[in-house]
Amino acid sequence: MAITAFDPRSATELGSYAESAPEDVRRAASAARARFADPAFRDDATRARLLRAAARALRDAGDELRPLCEAETGLPEARVAGELERTCRQLEAFADVVDAAEHVEAIIDLPDPSSTPPRGDIRRMLIPIGPVAVFGASNFPFAFGVAGGDTASSLAAGCPVIAKGHPSHPGTNERVARALLEAGLDGGAFTLIQGTSNEIGEALVDAPEIEAVGFTGSLRGGRALYDRAAQREKPIPVYAEMGSVNPVVVTETALREGAESIADGLAVAVSGAAGQLCTKPGIVLVPDTEAGASFVAAVADRLAGGGPQPMLNERLRDSLSERLDEVVPHVETLRAGGPGDTGYTFAPAAFRTTARALRERPDLTDECFGPVVLFASYADDLEETLASFHGQLAASIHAAPDEAPAIAEILRERVGRLVFGGFSTGVAVCHAMQHGGPYPATTAPWSTSVGMTAIRRFLRPVAWQDAPAQALPPALRDGNPLGIWRLVNGELTRD
Ligand code: NAP
Repeated sequence: MAITAFDPRSATELGSYAESAPEDVRRAASAARARFADPAFRDDATRARLLRAAARALRDAGDELRPLCEAETGLPEARVAGELERTCRQLEAFADVVDAAEHVEAIIDLPDPSSTPPRGDIRRMLIPIGPVAVFGASNFPFAFGVAGGDTASSLAAGCPVIAKGHPSHPGTNERVARALLEAGLDGGAFTLIQGTSNEIGEALVDAPEIEAVGFTGSLRGGRALYDRAAQREKPIPVYAEMGSVNPVVVTETALREGAESIADGLAVAVSGAAGQLCTKPGIVLVPDTEAGASFVAAVADRLAGGGPQPMLNERLRDSLSERLDEVVPHVETLRAGGPGDTGYTFAPAAFRTTARALRERPDLTDECFGPVVLFASYADDLEETLASFHGQLAASIHAAPDEAPAIAEILRERVGRLVFGGFSTGVAVCHAMQHGGPYPATTAPWSTSVGMTAIRRFLRPVAWQDAPAQALPPALRDGNPLGIWRLVNGELTRD
C-alpha cells in the first residue's frame, strides 16, 4: 500500500510513499521498549546531544525540506521556513532543559521523629514514563509534526518516540525522520510510521509497550484515541490537543480607542494560513451598537479582499464546506466565501448572529477549521454568554483596563491562555507558555503541549522512602551533586 501526496494548490499528485503495516508498529514498539532501558539513552548528556544533533540535521536538510513541505501543504514559503527554524530551536530548548536537570522537580523531606506519627526520610522526583506514541497534525507539518513539540519533549524526558506521520504531508514526514535517524536517534529512539487507515494509529495506541500518547488534531480523532487508550488492558494517558474557537471579546471602549487596528489584526488572524490554526479566533463578541456594527462590516470588508487560499488537503476543504452547510441556516451571511476553482482552495467567510443565539444553539460554538469567523452581538448578556462556552485553548480580550478583569475572571475558568489587546494565533515556545485548556480543547487540562513544561506529560513521580545513599539518584542525594533547585523541608534551595 502507498500514501499519495498532493499539491493542494492545484490538486496534482506529487508522489507516493510507503505505508506501514501493523507488524511495523509491533517491531517499532519493541525496539522503543528496548531503547528505553538502554543506559546510554537514560544518560541526560547523551540525550541533550542527540536533541541538538537533530536540530542541526533538520537545518542541514532545509533546502530539501522547505520546497517539499510547501508543495505538500500549500503553506507560504516564509511560514514554512519560519516553522522549520522554530522546530529546530524547540529541540535545542529542550536540550537546555535536560542540561539544567530542574525538570525532575526534586523534593526532599528529611526525617522528623517528632512528627505524629514520626516521619521517615522521603525523597521524590520525576522519571520518564516509557515509550510515547506521537500523532502529528496536518496544519503544522514541522512544529506539531513528527519532530515537533511532542517528540522533542518526549525525547527530552527520556522517552523513545514512535511518531505517526500525518498522511497530508508524507514526503515531509519521511525526510524529517531521515534527518532524525542520521542525527543518531536510531535503534528505537525514534521511529516513523505512516498510514492512511485508522488501523495503523489504533495498533500504535494498543501496543503494550506504549506508555503515553501525544496527539494533535481533530476532536473526533483525539477523542477516538483517548477512548481506545482507556479500553486497553492497561489504560495509558492520552494528551490530545484538539480544536477550539478561541473567543474574542471586544468592548465599546476598545472600539472607540482603536477599531481600525483591531479590525486589521482580526482579519489577519482569521484568514492567515487559510485560518487553519487551532488558535484562530472563530467567534467574536461585539457590542450591539452602531460602533459594533461598523466594526463587523470593516472586518468583513477586509476579508472580502482576500481570494481563495489553499486548504491543507481535500478532506479539510470538504469538511469545512459541510460544516458551513450546518451553520449557514442559523446565522446571517456577511460574506459567503467557499471553495475556489483551483486545487483545494477556500475563500474567507464571515457570519453574524446574536449572543443569545449562541447560548440557545451551543453547536454554533463548535470549530469551523478554516478562514471563517462568526460575530455575535451582545447587549447586557456578555458575561452570561461567556459562561456558556465550553473549554478553549485561548481567548482574546480587547477592553479598557478597568473592564478587562471581570471578563478575564469568567474566561479563565474556560481557557488555557488569555491574550490582552492582541490575538491568540501566535504561540511562543518558552517556559511560561500554556497551550492547552479544559475539554474539549484537550483531554488533559492540567498540561501544555507547547513550552518547556510540556516535558511533564512524559514523566511520572516516584518517592524513595528511607533509601540508602547508594540507591538514590544523583538529583536526590545529600550534598546536591547536580547543583539543582530542590524543595527541602518545604523550602526551595540549592544547598
Ligand atoms: P486529524 O484528522 O485528527 O489527524 C491527526 C492524526 O490522527 C492523523 O495522523 C490521523 O491519521 C490520526 N487519526 C485521526 N483520527 C484517528 C482515529 N480515529 N484512529 C486512528 N488515528 C486517527 O487532524 P488534522 O487533519 O490535522 O485536523 C485539524 C484539527 O487539528 C483542527 O481541529 C485543529 O484545530 C486541530 N489542531 C489542534 C492543535 C492544538 O495544538 N490544539 C494544533 C494543530 C491542529 P489519519 O488521517 O490516517 O486518520
